[in-house]
Amino acid sequence: SAGSDENDVVVVGGGPGGYVAAIKAAQLGLKTTCIEKRGTLGGTCLNVGCIPSKALLHSSHMYHEAKHSFANHGVKFSSVEVDLPAMMAQKDKAVSNLTRGIEGLFKKNKVNYVKGYGKLVSPSEVSVDTIDGGNTVVKGKNIIIATGSDVKSLPGITIDEEKIVSSTGALALKETPKKLVVIGAGYIGLEMGSVWGRLGSEVTVVEFAPEIVPSLDGEVRKQFQRSLEKQGMKFILKTKVVGVDTSSGGVKLTLEPASGGEKTILEADVVLVSAGRTPFTAGLGLEKIGVETDKVGRILVNDRFATNVPGVYAIGDVIPGPMLAHKAEEDGVACVEFIAGKVGHVDYDKVPGVVYTHPEVASVGKTEEQVKALGVAYCIGKFPLLANSRAKAIDDAEGFVKIIAEKETDKILGVHIMAPNAGELIHEAAIALQYDAASEDIARVCHAHPTMSEALKEAAMATYDKPIHI
Ligand code: FAD
Repeated sequence: SAGSDENDVVVVGGGPGGYVAAIKAAQLGLKTTCIEKRGTLGGTCLNVGCIPSKALLHSSHMYHEAKHSFANHGVKFSSVEVDLPAMMAQKDKAVSNLTRGIEGLFKKNKVNYVKGYGKLVSPSEVSVDTIDGGNTVVKGKNIIIATGSDVKSLPGITIDEEKIVSSTGALALKETPKKLVVIGAGYIGLEMGSVWGRLGSEVTVVEFAPEIVPSLDGEVRKQFQRSLEKQGMKFILKTKVVGVDTSSGGVKLTLEPASGGEKTILEADVVLVSAGRTPFTAGLGLEKIGVETDKVGRILVNDRFATNVPGVYAIGDVIPGPMLAHKAEEDGVACVEFIAGKVGHVDYDKVPGVVYTHPEVASVGKTEEQVKALGVAYCIGKFPLLANSRAKAIDDAEGFVKIIAEKETDKILGVHIMAPNAGELIHEAAIALQYDAASEDIARVCHAHPTMSEALKEAAMATYDKPIHI
């Protein structure tokens, strides 16, 4: 069994951080076991996060386009309707195909897979309560904690996953709510709000902060909010939810201005609580072996992903840094490279962030506000999608590209894109940033015509000189 022989690496958690670390470790010739309690691999991301949300975002976008845009393109139907169970089934199929795919990758790379709840009993031993009711101890020279994060509720609000749901419940509603209230204007709330809004819900987003998605560049955020409002999403900002009453048929929320004041009531059929995520370390035995955490429970690591306990490492959502799947994957690869005696590398300042609404919003590097705060002299280059031929040709031209470059050297500091394909377009900028490119470097690269990528090239031209098409 897994317990009888020693591993080079034991990974606790099979999400994007853990499963990628396990595969990479095996590829580097290390004997590796991955422990996952869920019964399926892929973690939050594949099971109840990135993948099912993108499946529903795509399906609901297709419906919305069919209903509101196809006729403009000369495609007419007598009627179009939503078959919610079929939509959910396509999402579930995508999830199960992908999670099984990772099991296949484990076999291919000879990663040993133990299904069960892992608990550290020493810096080199994990006791696992297996899913089938047994127990086994898995030994390893190195242990990587990749236990990820969990949904966070708010004081006084109990998530029942029916009327008051987390993102997990919002990915599996049985019918489209007439009124959906989203608590929290982060990217997850806006993505799930978009899904149900497109399918017919009246969506109101309540946010404590004065603005939506705090990590965004201010100018992008303003246009993004306007775009969502045009799609019918309502925003109540600078407001807190102070009471929840589910005694009647629906839900009655009591709201109060963030700074205190008169209370109001907001009614909903379903309430989505998306007020952030919290590191998941319950039952892991961290205290017992003395692994240090910070005030919010994140495991503290050094730049080699090592905790204060020799031989114990941590990666992904359970450590500080952007809580994103691709960041967890980068952590995983770098961590095992260090364990294997190589050099790993992750730069948290160059992790792209994407909001998968329509249009999408993507960014990499610094916002204008951050550059200003640093006191660096900078230039801005902007180009609207309305002046991009491809976007016009397909009648999907909302958005713009914004590039921030250092004034003296033209070095790119940040790129922000609101566009239908922003999540794909952003990687050209990520490469530029990684190689310390100047905006002129992008501008002088031949870009295929007609593509939305040309908007990035033109924004680059606008940064140090003039664009052609506006
Ligand atoms: P997780 O994916 O949380 O995986 C940890 C795994 O460890 C879990 O499967 C858990 O069951 C297991 N585990 C925990 N404790 C134990 C234990 N003691 N023993 C055994 N197993 C254990 N990120 C993006 O980059 N792009 C997106 O589009 C995106 N969309 C999202 C949408 C939603 C609705 C949500 C909720 C999240 C989204 N995220 C997205 C965030 C992304 O899912 C996380 O950043 C990512 O999953 C973190 O990976 P991880 O491996 O650190 O942890």
